Amino acid sequence: MSGREIEYVKQAFESNFIAPVGPQLNQFEYSFCEVSGFDHCVAVVNGTAAIHLILRHLGVGPGDIVLASTLTFVGSVAPVLYQGAELVFIDSDPNTWNMDPSLLEQEIKRLMKLGRKPAAVIPTELYGLPCDLDRIVDICSPHGIPVVCDCAESLGASYRGRPSGVGSTAAAFSFNGNKIITTSGGGMVASDDAKLINDCRYLAAQARQPVLHYEHHDIGYNYRMSNIIAAIGLGQLEVLNDRVKQKRWINERYREGMKDLPGISFMPKTDYGKSNCWLTVILIDKDVAGFGALDLIRALEAANIESRPVWNPLHRQKIFASCRCINTGVADLLFKIGVCLPSGTSLEGRDISRVCQVVKQLGGE
Ligand SMILES: *Cc1c(COP(=O)(O)O)cnc(C)c1O
Repeated sequence: MSGREIEYVKQAFESNFIAPVGPQLNQFEYSFCEVSGFDHCVAVVNGTAAIHLILRHLGVGPGDIVLASTLTFVGSVAPVLYQGAELVFIDSDPNTWNMDPSLLEQEIKRLMKLGRKPAAVIPTELYGLPCDLDRIVDICSPHGIPVVCDCAESLGASYRGRPSGVGSTAAAFSFNGNKIITTSGGGMVASDDAKLINDCRYLAAQARQPVLHYEHHDIGYNYRMSNIIAAIGLGQLEVLNDRVKQKRWINERYREGMKDLPGISFMPKTDYGKSNCWLTVILIDKDVAGFGALDLIRALEAANIESRPVWNPLHRQKIFASCRCINTGVADLLFKIGVCLPSGTSLEGRDISRVCQVVKQLGGE
């Protein structure tokens, strides 16, 4: 927390709007539009709900196919199954680790020939690095396929000079406890399409008809964000730029601290966009480094430092065993040799040095 959140929460209490409506909620949505670069948005309970609402609005349902990144968090695609649609996973581009646009293009062509136009494409912006959105939109828009950008990890990143996600049909954001800014739990649907946002707002509040009595023509969800939670979000939005700066600084310190270590490389940078560096991730070439990703995770653990493997690709999960994956082995390799390093914004230079020291010692330096 930045310290300012509690003031906004106090204001929320004073307004007595302890509900999923209120002035803080309105202000949070207004401010989020400014920060995210989208014309319209609606605040919801979490990022997974945000994706679910977008898919519901798009009419995704049984018999439909949705194409999604395989190297991502399950929340990105669980809503496809809530809607009873079929998932096809797309592997990562080795140069960005994000959805490979060439593989996407091939698969769309193949499906179009079969007369099975995909109902949506969900690219994730992995660890804060924007996907190549213009290319993905260029592939999808001639066929009228909507692009739902999973920006849960990329708030504050930029793509070709604009905020990440802008240019997609709609984007989903998350304010979960682990994200670059947090409201404890929360999410946002953002889009330039006012109709889409109005429909998501309607569906998120039990799809109530705009009449005095309770009248329902559709089944909706109880997905609206609470005014109290939005108050926390107001305080967090004010420090987003600082958080991004800190995350990028942490990333640079790691790069500096490990620059001469054999067998260690970092998540790629791209010329089309700038990551918010939500997490700093390294790859370890075991043959060169003399130790592997799991060895490092264990050595860090022994020094009381928490780290994690890269996302376990979704096509490897038991629950998605029946889903097709356009698999070139990239995500599988990243999972095998990647380590997400401690990246919290409370880290100081000496903390990062400690992590680098463990890596050096493991390499026998
Ligand atoms: C966190 C996350 C989500 C889900 O967000 P929640 O707010 O936790 O529901 C979806 N996709 C990605 C890539 C995420 O990192």
